[in-house]
Amino acid sequence: MALTDTVAEELQRAVQGVLPGVRALRQDLHAHPEIALHEKRTAACVRDALRAAGLAPWPPLLDTDVIAELPGADSRTTICLRADMDALPIDETTDCTYRSTTPGMAHSCGHDGHTAMLVGAARVLAARQGPLPVNVRFVFQPGEEIVAAGRDLVARGACDGVSAAYALHGWPGLPVGVVAGRSGPVMAAAAFFSVQLTGSGCHGSTPECGNSPLTAAAEIVQALERLHADVQAEDGSVVSVCSLRGGQSANVIPERCRIEGTVRYLEAARGAQLEQRIRAVITQRCDARSIQADLDYTSRYALPTINSEAASARARSLVQHHLGSALWHELTAPSMSSEDFAYYLEGREGAMLRLGMGEESPSLHNPAYNFNDDALANGIFTLCALALAGA
Ligand SMILES: [Zn+2]
Ligand SMILES: [Zn+2]
Repeated sequence: MALTDTVAEELQRAVQGVLPGVRALRQDLHAHPEIALHEKRTAACVRDALRAAGLAPWPPLLDTDVIAELPGADSRTTICLRADMDALPIDETTDCTYRSTTPGMAHSCGHDGHTAMLVGAARVLAARQGPLPVNVRFVFQPGEEIVAAGRDLVARGACDGVSAAYALHGWPGLPVGVVAGRSGPVMAAAAFFSVQLTGSGCHGSTPECGNSPLTAAAEIVQALERLHADVQAEDGSVVSVCSLRGGQSANVIPERCRIEGTVRYLEAARGAQLEQRIRAVITQRCDARSIQADLDYTSRYALPTINSEAASARARSLVQHHLGSALWHELTAPSMSSEDFAYYLEGREGAMLRLGMGEESPSLHNPAYNFNDDALANGIFTLCALALAGA
């Protein structure tokens, strides 16, 4: 369904009306970051804001999630708008007045902005006269980082009955307020590996008396680098070694060491193959040196985030028509970072869009990252427009 210019203009005015409150909420959440599955204060703030807007939040499906719905004229169709609420275990280095008050925690992925925008969208849509065209479900999810709680939330029914789901992620490097998207993969699937190598420790002066796991580790790191080059050439997949720990002293050959890293790919079916190849690299090197390998391989973000054609086209046309074509950016390639929003899109329409935070913005997960409030209005508008455009 297209959005008329009159409705879009009303929407713009309503967005301006909620903007001061949304900015204040964003900065308050920024000052009080909570990491994955500990979003108690954040969830309480969201619940209070939704109740104040006349919505009735559901009993939580997990613990710190907040979900509420506005009814539509077509009660059989539901659009889901999703925001994530969790912060990261990072020491913030910005000097803004509302910097994190919790040492070791910061909103360095900008989920404070995502949460505040969705509260803004709920306030705008709840205040509209007459019924919405379709039901609109607002999902504020905990634990996007590290634990992929979105996957559990969807499994518990957060998306039951939903025909299309949308999310916006603040994105450094894009001009402020620009909305970006594409049809097809936008974010990668991710797996993580951690392997403990056990050999036999001894005095550094007599290496022949032991069996150093460090030698096997060095070979494995190099072999995984070669594997990365191969899979990059095959289909752009990524294998990265990110941590290598072993030994504590210059005269002791250690008993154990550990290698950790991550794998990224753009087709779900690729995951099992990559796991097999990594296992083979490790087993081969360890067997050759009689080193014991204990591999922990996890893939909680096992799906790439794939935007549907129709939802991407809808977002593109709404933004181009109502915000202006300069405010739409068509992505040419996916990011190899990952998102549990992939689970919202499994088997249904929808799109994960990006919202420009400015070319000078520090990168995501950088301790100086701070969601850009100047993008809030376009973000709220886009969410509302997607909801009103229906499915
Ligand atoms: Zn993140
Ligand atoms: Zn994020």
